Parts: sequence; structure tokens; C-alpha cells
Amino acid sequence: MTNLTELQRVLDGIVAAAARISDRGEVADYIPELSAADPAMFGIAVSLASGEVLAAGDARTAFSIQSISKVFTLAMALGRLGDGLWRRVGREPSGLAFNSILQLEQENGRPRNPFVNAGAIVVTDAILAASEPREVLAELLRFVREAAEDGDIHINKEVARSEAGTGHRNRALAHMLKAQGNLHNTPDRVLGTYFHQCALEMSCVQLARAGRFLIGGREAALIAPYNVRRINALMMTCGHYDGSGDFAYRVGLPAKSGVGGGILAVAPRRASIAVWSPGLNAHGNSKLGTMAAEMLADRMGWSVFS
Ligand code: GLU
Repeated sequence: MTNLTELQRVLDGIVAAAARISDRGEVADYIPELSAADPAMFGIAVSLASGEVLAAGDARTAFSIQSISKVFTLAMALGRLGDGLWRRVGREPSGLAFNSILQLEQENGRPRNPFVNAGAIVVTDAILAASEPREVLAELLRFVREAAEDGDIHINKEVARSEAGTGHRNRALAHMLKAQGNLHNTPDRVLGTYFHQCALEMSCVQLARAGRFLIGGREAALIAPYNVRRINALMMTCGHYDGSGDFAYRVGLPAKSGVGGGILAVAPRRASIAVWSPGLNAHGNSKLGTMAAEMLADRMGWSVFS
């Protein structure tokens, strides 16, 4: 059993430590709407397997979850397609940036994993197979609202529009995938859906609650237990792009980052953790968020490597 008083003390200590740090990384500005984020914001929330939610800092302020949405769309795709998905996407770390185009051409249009942008675009294409974009987005919203048991989770259309106006690399990736026969829908249709899924907004409290389906061992699971294992494995190996090895080394937990500065991490059988600090490191992952996850895993003894 987790000692709640101790956990709250650890969370408050992490917020205090973060407040003392002035080098907070760079806020993403390639999506204009994201550049308005305040680098001073910092929130952390933990949703325990036993049901309690503890939080500290700006944990109730909504932020753009961006690539963390790829965890939810992967869960949907695995539920719909099962192993058929792996004919189109790999399961290996890429060792390259999240939006790299290079590897896709070299590897004939089969993205390395479902978390790099090319892979996530294929996953979104796969769930669009028998549905309209608005149906897929409605299903995604249903999924996260049910997972978080919170109806007040929304997509920020301004953020989606902002990325649609500047997402030239993603457009290049989608067209390359189409040229290589690994996109069934038109690039515009897939990207319109992808930009909206990335524009989902949640607070740390909502995100930590939405991540509980990955803790495992729950009776009323949203997805099959073997998919919980598999998604956690992919988060550990690929969830932080070319910074995944460093994150595993420092934190030792499966996790997925987003360029909005959020990180969703899972302490299997114990807790789902969300942390948010908008400044990013060189790999496009939250700088203080990584530090916070490291402190939390260390102080609570939660690393899966012990
Ligand atoms: N929407 C962002 C992009 O496609 C997501 C990237 C991220 O959060 O890592 O560039």
C-alpha cells in the first residue's frame, strides 16, 4: 500500500524543486498555438491503483497532450485490428527524431514504431478504415472520457487548425506513406484527424486518471491485459523517441511524452502518473517533466527495474 501522506510530501517536494530551476527548456513553437504556453507552469498528478488521486502544482490546468494521444489511438487500433496492425508499423525504437523523414524512405514506408509521427499517422489511417474522421474523434473522446471518468475533456480546434497550417513535415510524411502504399485514406483526411487527436487537452489530474487503464490488474479493464503489456513495452522502448533510452535509464518507467510538455508514465500495478512543464529538451520531451518523473520514481521506489 502506498503511504498517501508520504506521496503527497514527495509531490510537493518535486513542485518546490521545479520552482527553483530557471533553465526550463524551450517551449515548442513550430505549432504557433503552443508557443503561447507559459514555461513557468508545472503540474504533477498521480492516480493510484487503489483509486486515490494526489496532485501538486498546476495539476488542474488543461494543456495540449499532443503525442500522448498516440497511446490512446494505439489502444483503439489494437482493439480493432489486433496483430494485423504490425504488418504496417514496426515495434523498434527509431533512434531518430519524432518527425524524421529519412528512415521512412530507407525502410520502404513501414514506420519503425507507432509513436514516431509516421507510425502514428499510419495508426490513425488504420482506425479510419471503416469510419469517418468525426466518428474516430468522437470515439477517441469517448475512450479518454470513460478512462478518466470525466466528461469535461475536449479537443482544442484552434490548436488543430494551427498545426494544420504549419505541419509541413507531417504532410511530407503522409505523402511519402501514400507513395509507398502504406496509407489507405488521402493524406488530408488522415492528417485532419491526426492534428485533431493531438489537440486533445487535459489537465494532469485528467491525464493521470485517463492513464489508469495501463496500470494493469484492474477488473473492469478498457483493453485486453495482453495489450496493456504490449503498449507499456512500446512506451518504455519508443515513448520518448530518440530520448527513450535516457528516459528508461533515468526514470525506469514506461512513458509517453508530447511536445505540449506533458508526460504520461505508468508504474505497473501501482499508479498512472501525469506531469506537465511546457519547456522541452533537445529530443522534444519535457525537460522538467523528465526530472520530476525521475524524482518521483526514485523517491517512491517505483522503477520497474527496482
Ligand atoms: N502534433 C505533433 C506533431 O505531429 C506531435 C509531436 C509530439 O507531441 O511529439 O508534430
